[in-house]
Amino acid sequence: MTDHREKPISSRRAFLTASAAVAATPVLGARAAHAGGRGAHGQSPDRQLRALLREIDPNRIGAIVTRLAAFGTRHTLSAQDDPARGIGAARDWIFEQLTTYAAASGGRMTVELQSFIQPVSPRVPVPTRITNVVATLRGDTDPDRVYVVTGHYDSRATDVLDATSDAPGADDDASGVAAIMELARVMATRHTEATVVFAAVAAEEQGLYGSDYLAQQFKNAGTDVQAMFSNDIVGTGDAHDGSSPDPRTVRLFVEGVPTAETAAEATVRKSVGGENDGPSRQLGRFVRDVAENPQTGMKVRVIWRRDRYLRGSDHISFLLRGYPAARLTEPRENFAHEHQDVRVENGIQYGDLVEFCDFKYIARVARVNAAALWSLAQAPGTPKGVVIDTTQLTNETTLRWQRGTSPDLTGYEVVWRETTAPDWTNVLAVGDVTTVTIDLSKDNVFFGVRAVDRDGHRSPVAAPLPAG
Ligand SMILES: [Zn+2]
Repeated sequence: MTDHREKPISSRRAFLTASAAVAATPVLGARAAHAGGRGAHGQSPDRQLRALLREIDPNRIGAIVTRLAAFGTRHTLSAQDDPARGIGAARDWIFEQLTTYAAASGGRMTVELQSFIQPVSPRVPVPTRITNVVATLRGDTDPDRVYVVTGHYDSRATDVLDATSDAPGADDDASGVAAIMELARVMATRHTEATVVFAAVAAEEQGLYGSDYLAQQFKNAGTDVQAMFSNDIVGTGDAHDGSSPDPRTVRLFVEGVPTAETAAEATVRKSVGGENDGPSRQLGRFVRDVAENPQTGMKVRVIWRRDRYLRGSDHISFLLRGYPAARLTEPRENFAHEHQDVRVENGIQYGDLVEFCDFKYIARVARVNAAALWSLAQAPGTPKGVVIDTTQLTNETTLRWQRGTSPDLTGYEVVWRETTAPDWTNVLAVGDVTTVTIDLSKDNVFFGVRAVDRDGHRSPVAAPLPAG
């Protein structure tokens, strides 16, 4: 357990001034004291989430990883019409499985094959049909708000253009596909407020083409994707390299300066900071708050990078379009087991084999995803239009935002921290308002706003932009 939760939270330093455009200051004072006791962090899994987490089954995950590896290769350029070997057989099997899960959803989960022809590109020598398998669980009350989770079902051997050699891709990335499939199965029987999309994407190894297409379809439709997670190489906490296993840690990569930052946004950032407050960083803080607990049994090691050196994954397709996104991956990789022909050389086993995967570990990573997705989908959406009033020089802070539309929204919390602190240290419940003035200088701390619902679910934090 990290120590940030043990820090005392003092919300008494802040108070709502008489100029606050709010009605019931005494009530707000009481709520502030309560929020101070609760702290800025940690959101224990609700009863429904605890039941969901228990249903995630390592044996089913193991069966999926084993089945996907048995297709021999799932290279994007491999056979699409062979029923036993190649990416086409894997595609059809994933589709069948997800369709079976969707049957338990009462019509709320739909499964589609999303295909397009990828033109010739550096790792695609001939125009190639690429197909994502996409299961969508429609939200009950907030269906236009969408959360996406992916794993990539294509695999590769040493030569990225080798479409025929064995490429079992157990860790990279049958593990991620198994995680999202098991998530789809356990969530299909449950009602969520917002929509959750479970996608097995293709052509990751050829250039993120499947996720690129998926993200672009959302962008074209104007879809409000409020978070996306790529599960890529989540197969084991044991690198099998003599280092000590770390089976209760998963890395979560979250970028700082947004990939899609505009020139105008960069100008603001250079002026007043905020490089650690982009939407993906807020998502990283949120995931740790909701997913690092005894029920998942996992530590979420948040890493403030878009991805590892020399590597990238499908979250980048979403970051490019301005959607908050993160990548989950195991704590320490064994590069002899990734992107390698299956062979023994100098007594070393190369290749991405099922025997190096730990199905219980993958199940725990799936639980981290489940805690994040459930908590996101049941909470109100991330506040929009959050601004910090900069019309004049003052030593206080006025924040404004748009009221959200979630039916069970009950109000908002303002959070803040020292500019040098990594995570929120203070929280103040401000009630169901859309503007508040706080007697703290906006020059000295970073602020954020999050929404709260009737059940106590918190949204991710939105950082304010300056506004005149
Ligand atoms: Zn991968």
